[in-house]
Amino acid sequence: MEEIIANNRKWVETKLSEDSEFFNKMAKGQKPRYLFIGCSDSRVPASAITGTGPGEMFVHRNIANLVVHSDMNLLAVLQYAVEVLEVKDIMVVGHYGCGGVAAAASNKQYGLIDNWLANIRDVVRLHETEFMGISDKDQQLRRLVELNVIEQVRNLASTNIIQNARKGANPPQLHGLVYDLHDGLLHDLKVETDTLDEFMHIYGINAAEHAEKVAEQAEDGKLHKLTKDTETKPAGKTQKAKSLR
Ligand SMILES: [Zn+2]
Repeated sequence: MEEIIANNRKWVETKLSEDSEFFNKMAKGQKPRYLFIGCSDSRVPASAITGTGPGEMFVHRNIANLVVHSDMNLLAVLQYAVEVLEVKDIMVVGHYGCGGVAAAASNKQYGLIDNWLANIRDVVRLHETEFMGISDKDQQLRRLVELNVIEQVRNLASTNIIQNARKGANPPQLHGLVYDLHDGLLHDLKVETDTLDEFMHIYGINAAEHAEKVAEQAEDGKLHKLTKDTETKPAGKTQKAKSLR
């Protein structure tokens, strides 16, 4: 840790020499333009490869840059970034040579992480014909990295957070990028224009329509009945608990 602390002190000195008010400005608050969803891999440093400094990018990282609809961590980051910070661009950033993607494609067992990697195996299943049609193993994995990014952008688009944001005036743009460890270059897969609306007939949630249905049910008494049923259940449980005592 001595090295880390020494590096930190050097960094503070450099920052202050460039701008004596740097930390005072940072302490006032953040208004980042970007949300970065990337892999935890140590070779893919979010700020360095995007040329962004402190305050410019909100970051979420996990193994193989997945957007899983039941991941509370990701959802909390996404909601905060979209609804409070009002980020303009959200990028899912995968990388060639991803260990998580390779492990998912290997059909070997790794323990707990297999359950996480199953999300990438879902990507293989969705694109099985294309995936199996690539004979070269390296090329196959490179394509799986890209397909995984594309599917994670689709997962982002189908969250209610993004769907609600898209009803507003300035919804964030979604992007899928792949970083190449061999040359340091980021490649834009251009998924935001090609695929965003493609599956909305399945995943689309129309909040206004839902509100209309609830209002209709309330009018013909169905909602009242539902409320009544749910009210009686906890009371029953309480009585049972009392009689057990
Ligand atoms: Zn990775």
